[in-house]
Amino acid sequence: MGFSTTAIHAGNEPDAATGAVSVPIYQTSTYAQDGLGKHKGFEYARTQNPTRSALEKNISALENAKFGFAFASGMSAIDATLRLVKAGDHVILGDNTYGGTFRLFSRVLADYGVEFDLVDTSDVTKVETAFKPNTKMVFVETPTNPVMTVTDLRAISDLAHANGARVVCDNTFMSPYFQRPIEHGVDIVVHSTTKYLNGHSDSVGGFVALNDEKDAEWIGFIQNSVGAILSPFDSFLVLRGTKTLAVRMEAHDKNGRIVANFLAEHPRVEKVFYPGLVSHPQHELAKRQQSGFGGMVAFETGSFSNAKKVLESVKLCTLGESLGGVESLISHPASMTHASVPLEKRQALGITDGLVRISVGIEDVEDILSDLDQALG
Ligand SMILES: *Cc1c(COP(=O)(O)O)cnc(C)c1O
Repeated sequence: MGFSTTAIHAGNEPDAATGAVSVPIYQTSTYAQDGLGKHKGFEYARTQNPTRSALEKNISALENAKFGFAFASGMSAIDATLRLVKAGDHVILGDNTYGGTFRLFSRVLADYGVEFDLVDTSDVTKVETAFKPNTKMVFVETPTNPVMTVTDLRAISDLAHANGARVVCDNTFMSPYFQRPIEHGVDIVVHSTTKYLNGHSDSVGGFVALNDEKDAEWIGFIQNSVGAILSPFDSFLVLRGTKTLAVRMEAHDKNGRIVANFLAEHPRVEKVFYPGLVSHPQHELAKRQQSGFGGMVAFETGSFSNAKKVLESVKLCTLGESLGGVESLISHPASMTHASVPLEKRQALGITDGLVRISVGIEDVEDILSDLDQALG
């Protein structure tokens, strides 16, 4: 089955009781039992909920994974995944991951004895030398936020497996429409469904997809034990969102390419970060690993005051954090999403005070271009 067909039908069988074509929101905390130990497979809604199960079937099918678990946020999905490592284990963490992921490692997991090193995972040699005897996981994000550095998932997976470690990929930026990490050897895919999967900026959620049965059993156990589950209503929203994932991603990609090219030629823009540009240092790798480039574009304006002018002059693009919704969002990574990253580290990564990030929406592209043009002028 093709991607769109799977997106519309996986997990979306008509309701057995009523024939409802859309999976109902099972807004219930518990289920009547027929007798002691006799029930319909549903006992308590932290453990099982039909709306959530439908979404779990849906996204795991899109990621080509056997198992999937929906969580209350991207961060709780990542936290559950990290319960696969224990005190004394070592993790190789991409040096440009989402700020919340870095905070989870540095401020929470460090106190529980989980060791980690920040490594530029786009450089396979650096990853190779970072392995220790106790390395149990490599955690990558590709492309990274906001400078769009690409990591070779196949090379990193082969390397990690040779060293007895699992590979986790945060696939939020590409969504399974443009990149399916499991097909490149990755063991576990995590998502913030808050972004492209839901796609309408009206829900916070997370997802873990994987094939290994033992690891899946543990993630499911954590989901129930810790209880950071996705609510029935949010499950419904994301399930509705994924039905249009293919058409939305095509539109984000089309607009993203046009915006990136426009910015690349604009005299007020010094540099554009977008893997779809031939000038991107990893354009060839991105073409091989992704089937599109999406709607995330970052550009260098040269200074904080230039960035501030652009960010405060846009009219159509909304100044705000987050990404992946139908509306264009614009942000200043250095003071917003990456404010917690130390200045030196930010500079090393290219997250300067003049850098602006756009999550290009699916409005008419002429309107996005004229908004950016007037803001840059
Ligand atoms: C937003 C985001 C997260 C965190 O997800 P929440 O739903 O906000 O908890 C993790 N990774 C990436 C790449 C993100 O963009």
